[in-house]
Amino acid sequence: MVERFEVALNTPAGRLTTAIDVPTGFIPITAIVPVTLRLGEEAAQLEVQQAREAGLTISCKMGCAACCRMLVPLSAPEAFALREYVEQLPADRQTQLRQRISTTKDRLTREAVWDRLNDVAEASRPIPDEELDPINRVYYALRIPCPYLEDEMCSIYEARPAACRELLVTSPAELCQDLVQNPVTPLPVSMRIGSILGLVWGTLTDSPPRLIPLPMALEWAERHKEESRRTWPGSSLLDQVLDNMWRFLSQAFQKK
Ligand code: SF4
Repeated sequence: MVERFEVALNTPAGRLTTAIDVPTGFIPITAIVPVTLRLGEEAAQLEVQQAREAGLTISCKMGCAACCRMLVPLSAPEAFALREYVEQLPADRQTQLRQRISTTKDRLTREAVWDRLNDVAEASRPIPDEELDPINRVYYALRIPCPYLEDEMCSIYEARPAACRELLVTSPAELCQDLVQNPVTPLPVSMRIGSILGLVWGTLTDSPPRLIPLPMALEWAERHKEESRRTWPGSSLLDQVLDNMWRFLSQAFQKK
């Protein structure tokens, strides 16, 4: 059984209205991840539309994966949802993915980066940007392709994290070859969906919002799988997601 909710959100790029089906009864956090991602994508589409109306061109297109060498952070709910997604893939696909993740882990271990990423994923306090920036830079300098990248295309497109969905640029695509040296122009993001899911999870579990680096997301989710089995009323999870969205949107309006 599902319950339908009509959602209306005023974003800086226009009004988003949509219907959302949420299971009635108790559900795990992963059940709310797809609709939360969808709301983020619909908000991003309004930004895209506004940019096009202003005469701008979105440079991002299929086959361009320059940004898939950056360190992508996931919230805990996204890491659990990614694990569920991978576990329902055919066995040979899972093996391929896990082999690539293992190769990435070996490289990051040799470069003395893996343990630093693990410390971030398991931190019992919010990590300030000043601590994260050097780790992001070291990681990006290695130019390691995301383990989910195949032939310069995302092999988990429908399950990719919010951070991957939110980076769209209007600057020339060539500039994305070096995101540290070049000034790229990203589209504004009024709601950071990973942060919103992280805040919801932090409230539910009385823990700090986590940033889980994508290469270790499966391993982290496996280690914490007991936590992912907890359930809450579906409507209450949606309320918490929407509350946090409104908070982000009101900040976005204040910045305008
Ligand atoms: S998950 Fe997909 S979109 Fe995100 S960095 Fe990896 S390959 Fe790129």
